Amino acid sequence: MQVIQTIEAFRTVRAALGKLALVPTMGALHAGHLSLIEIARQHAAQVAVSIFVNPTQFGPREDFNKYPRPVEEDLAACRQAGVDLVFMPTPQEMYPAGASADIVIDLPGLTNVLEGRHRPGHFAGVCQVVAKLFNIVQPQVACFGQKDYQQLRVLSAMARALNFPITLVPCPTLREPDGLAMSSRNRYLSPEDRARALSISRALSLAQEQFASGIHQTNRLITTVQKTLLEQHLNIDYVAAVDPMSLQPVERVEAPTLLAIAARVGATRLIDNVILEPR
Ligand code: AMP
Repeated sequence: MQVIQTIEAFRTVRAALGKLALVPTMGALHAGHLSLIEIARQHAAQVAVSIFVNPTQFGPREDFNKYPRPVEEDLAACRQAGVDLVFMPTPQEMYPAGASADIVIDLPGLTNVLEGRHRPGHFAGVCQVVAKLFNIVQPQVACFGQKDYQQLRVLSAMARALNFPITLVPCPTLREPDGLAMSSRNRYLSPEDRARALSISRALSLAQEQFASGIHQTNRLITTVQKTLLEQHLNIDYVAAVDPMSLQPVERVEAPTLLAIAARVGATRLIDNVILEPR
């Protein structure tokens, strides 16, 4: 496995390789990331993982400084997973003139809702860094988790709008045995907060059961979710039922519908979602 920190060195190595699948990450790797690597391997002979805690996608009051950076463990996990290349640039390498002097990519229709509404500038930062990674790594395939559903939707729209010759592969959400969606941020949770955080996946399961029993009005499903979260005293940023393509609210589930949650458990902000599929 080659670990590369500069753009120039990456380009040199990349030029000698054929089909490549990229898994972009911010490190603190868990089984969810490893499942993306596994899926990447099914799409290309070579797999690259990028590890970069991108400063431009964090808000001023968010957790950029305290975001976990267990570099040696991450490299061991990549090695173990059979990754061929790790691209691990410094912020200076990615933003030599400073982030604010860099490009901004805006997809307002898809980014002024859900996460984008609660994290101003977040998707501009995500699009900025992923466009740069696409140009540096030049993968044919890139794998993204459905846990960050809006990110996947925004990046698919970006890749299409900017004609990146890259297939984006959506990957299912990996969960802990008790249902909690895996996340690098789960390590912030105290045992008590972790128990309360379980209400997120439980709320989604309850809504799915309600939907399966014939309730298609989204306001009723949303109420169920809100009640379940509030019982555990979570601070809700949003609970929303939206069209998976437009991300606009849906009143009745008559086609696949994204049911998405963002909530804070103490100081930790967690997101999760499911797709409701009418039969
Ligand atoms: P991050 O390191 O949090 O930026 O995540 C890197 C990639 O892993 C993104 O495409 C995420 O959607 C994906 N990912 C994060 N958590 C999970 C999970 N529990 N299951 C599957 N993919 C995930």
